[in-house]
Amino acid sequence: LSKGLEQIRDKPCVTTDGHQMPLWVNTGLMTDVMRSLNQGAEGVGLYRTEVPFMINDRFPSELEQRDSYREQLEAFSPGPVTMRTLDVGGDKSLSYFPIKEENPFLGWRGIRVTLDHPEIFLVQVRAMLKASAGLNNLRIMLPMISNISEIEEAMHLVYRVYHEVREEGFDVALPPLGVMIEVPAAIFQVREIAERVDFISVGSNDLTQYLLAVDRNNPRVASLYHTFHPAVLHALKRIVEDAHAVDKKVSICGELAGDPGGAILLMAMGYDMLSMNANNLLRIKSVLRAVSLEWAQALLARLLTMDSPQVIKATIDLALREIG
Ligand code: PEP
Ligand code: MG
Repeated sequence: LSKGLEQIRDKPCVTTDGHQMPLWVNTGLMTDVMRSLNQGAEGVGLYRTEVPFMINDRFPSELEQRDSYREQLEAFSPGPVTMRTLDVGGDKSLSYFPIKEENPFLGWRGIRVTLDHPEIFLVQVRAMLKASAGLNNLRIMLPMISNISEIEEAMHLVYRVYHEVREEGFDVALPPLGVMIEVPAAIFQVREIAERVDFISVGSNDLTQYLLAVDRNNPRVASLYHTFHPAVLHALKRIVEDAHAVDKKVSICGELAGDPGGAILLMAMGYDMLSMNANNLLRIKSVLRAVSLEWAQALLARLLTMDSPQVIKATIDLALREIG
């Protein structure tokens, strides 16, 4: 980490014209938590709970899960920790729970798996809620939502666990519940989704993959995975507008938030929080502190009229060079 960046660790993330942009982190293992705290992160926008599951050789027990969730909630308290329910399938596999499919990214993934196996979901949510007792900084987020009914089913399970855990005597509050927007179908249901939950968060990695029909991990088509494709930019803008129309906050936890050009554009669109890998946090803070919201909005307006991903990317790179 360069000396210049370390100096802004405790400075606010605010633009030259006074716009505040909260920066959160994505975590998986406890080492990410430590690194995030060292970088001055305000909260966790995405804790990928499947990471500890993936390095295990069996499903972690409720108590094991509870202990590791507690550790993270305590480390960030009073800052919020957004725990995503198990997101396996697609590119994320568990050796002890093999899923064999022809099209794993279009198959049994995320919420689809845990609603078919409510025992997995219930144990996990029970562990999360018990871990949050007395702390009140837990947020729960659902991955891969493509149907409203999945939210309703999952909420029903969360309420059930909440009442059970309270009856057992745990001092827990009902955590804010959020949904990831990462399937194209969800873009066109943002209002209906946002009305039902407390927050939404965009998973731009999967959203880009599904919008462009380009496997995010396939090197053969990697040059088609345009993070600044006009369709992606228009979708991201529409999501914020629709969520704000029903007064709900929107964050983004895909890699785009940790990219300097991406962060500038997302701020210009009106995203309420950016959540990123801790390694990118200070760099993004320094970029956002160097620009004005007005300048970012003018850049965005210009980019939204363009139709070539390459020209958009080149224009962003040029603008970044301007600010040094
Ligand atoms: C995403 O899809 O953008 C996301 C944040 O989730 P993951 O990368 O874990 O699929
Ligand atoms: Mg995803």
